Amino acid sequence: TSVGVPRETVTGERRVALVPGVVERLCAQGLAVVVEAGAGQAALIPDEAFAKAGASIGDPWSADVVVKVNAPTEAEIARLSPGSALVGFLAPLADPGIADRLRAAGVRGFALESVPRISRAQSMDALSSQANVAGYRAVLLAASECTRFFPMLTTAAGTVKPASVLVLGVGVAGLQALATAKRLGARTTGYDVRPEVADQVRSVGAKWLDLGVSAVGEGGYARELTDDERAEQTHRLNSAIAGFDAVITTALVPGRPAPKLVPAEAVRRMRPGSVIVDLAGATGGNCELSEPGRTVVGHEITIAAPLNLPATMPEHASELYARNVQALLELMLVDGRLAPDLTDEVLAAACITCPDPA
Ligand code: NAD
Repeated sequence: TSVGVPRETVTGERRVALVPGVVERLCAQGLAVVVEAGAGQAALIPDEAFAKAGASIGDPWSADVVVKVNAPTEAEIARLSPGSALVGFLAPLADPGIADRLRAAGVRGFALESVPRISRAQSMDALSSQANVAGYRAVLLAASECTRFFPMLTTAAGTVKPASVLVLGVGVAGLQALATAKRLGARTTGYDVRPEVADQVRSVGAKWLDLGVSAVGEGGYARELTDDERAEQTHRLNSAIAGFDAVITTALVPGRPAPKLVPAEAVRRMRPGSVIVDLAGATGGNCELSEPGRTVVGHEITIAAPLNLPATMPEHASELYARNVQALLELMLVDGRLAPDLTDEVLAAACITCPDPA
């Protein structure tokens, strides 16, 4: 069985789906790994490192299973072999047509976003591994854009108060952001519409902001708020946000536009020099003034809405992603051959081109 690793072609992407350490593990299990020349270059992994790990450098597209980070383009789908499998972030909710296009090409697609958030599938949870990178990086970005210190400083020239950081939406990225901001010495506060998050927020040394709005959806995710709930939330957030030096937003609802948690009015009330880092840019952003993919300054507040923070740390992001891919591949292998058992709960959920098991 062969595994192909193409070079990612999306602008700004620096990650690669497998790293040499994982290639070595897969080769030891009898798989043949083919890496496209230069696939790891942007992640600072030379072809030689892949070759040393046991991969061959060549055409990755005719492999039995192709592993990618981002969804394939039309041209890339055309290069896949009928009967092969494709693993990656296939964005089936943002682009429902992807399943049809892969099915038409005779390719079985496994979307990492669709891996269920259950204990057994934690090792395959690429949303989480990449959200950890994004949450960490978001805080560093906030700290470098903020005109004030994050930690408390006691110096001969006087004492500086620590910054206060608010994280809106405390899933995996939000929790990592709270933990990272705490390590930098900031005072931290978290808010989410899922009430069970309160204990997790406190466990990383942050305060819980209770706005009394609860919206628990399916599969551990949040649901979209009703109009009344949204009005109530906006009203309460409007005054809560003003006191923070940095606001990091990560709120998402699967398959829906990002909820607008930070209205322009709230930005206007913030102290000049404060920062907003909006991680929801890809689905429209959590802040009304965010411009996805850009950093803008409005009312003397810096608002950054980076679209792909994991790509800014390509070595570790790729390493973690590769381990997620490895775990999923191992689940699909039977005696060294690719034979995904589609009655398996994890594979059935991840497979976006298979009929539901009866
Ligand atoms: P996500 O990226 O989908 O969303 C980020 C956060 O935004 C969530 O916590 C969500 O509740 C919150 N949110 C959505 N709308 C909001 C609003 N209007 N106001 C405030 N907050 C809002 O979340 P995620 O990080 O992918 O995590 C989703 C779920 O998966 C969580 O329950 C998480 O604990 C769970 N999870 C489970 C496992 C596991 O058991 N294997 C692993 C990782 C995550």
